[in-house]
Amino acid sequence: MPIDPRQPYDPANIFARILRGEIPCKKVYEDEFVLAFHDINPQAPVHVLVIPRGAYVSWDDFSAKAPAEEIAGFVRGVGAVTRQLELDGPGYRLLVNMGGHGHQEVPHLHVHIFGGRQFTTMVPA
Ligand code: 5GP
Repeated sequence: MPIDPRQPYDPANIFARILRGEIPCKKVYEDEFVLAFHDINPQAPVHVLVIPRGAYVSWDDFSAKAPAEEIAGFVRGVGAVTRQLELDGPGYRLLVNMGGHGHQEVPHLHVHIFGGRQFTTMVPA
């Protein structure tokens, strides 16, 4: 079920628990601002999630409330992950699902990085 993006941040959400080390993940990258790990149900040969360390429900929440330093750190972190994965040459796709129509399921902002194959259709019918 998609989340209501206006809900308050739930510190018990699965990605908050991964950030606290309570649940394992296949870590790809981490720095002061982000943690990146493989998606548990990959939709492409490379499917990595990048999350900010800060407590933000969604892209909407993050873009409205995060300090500029955290926004810059998050964007730079996503870029660092793509280069570490050597996707900067072949290319990749980024996706953020937001709220109901976006079909966001986990209420902690995450960017999906997809790579390792050719993508065509922008959005499924
Ligand atoms: P959303 O639909 O919210 O944009 O995407 C949530 C993503 O989180 C899904 O692709 C799902 O497979 C992934 N996911 C859900 N639970 C876990 C988990 O416990 N570990 C990892 N690594 N990925 C998860």
